[in-house]
Amino acid sequence: MEDCIFCKIINKEIPAKIIYEDEYIVAFEDTNPQAPVHVLIIPKDHFSSLNDIPADKQKLLGHIVLKARKLAEKKGIKDKGYRIVLNTGKNSGQEVFHIHFHLLGGRQMTWPPG
Ligand code: AMP
Ligand code: ZN
Repeated sequence: MEDCIFCKIINKEIPAKIIYEDEYIVAFEDTNPQAPVHVLIIPKDHFSSLNDIPADKQKLLGHIVLKARKLAEKKGIKDKGYRIVLNTGKNSGQEVFHIHFHLLGGRQMTWPPG
């Protein structure tokens, strides 16, 4: 999709520190990390948010979540714990409207989130 910064990362039109890629998804380092580990995992197909994901995309969503676990393991935070965040819409604070899962870890998290 034109003018989508994450589509540009997928198409290698702008640089990113990509740590994983396959046919369906890309994972890369967040440029403004909120924790020692902060990775974004996105589908290669453009969907603005969870609200725009069709009902038949269960497999894609499951793939992302299980890959987040794998990346947590790769980053050495799997056993200590980590957080997966999926901001959806204005009230959540979503800023980039290409659906993305945040994988955060490497420090003690607090609850409730801000
Ligand atoms: P959200 O508030 O859930 O929409 O999160 C957007 C995230 O994308 C933020 O954590 C930003 O730091 C991150 N971000 C924005 N632009 C880039 C970029 N070009 N490369 C990597 N991360 C980015
Ligand atoms: Zn996009």
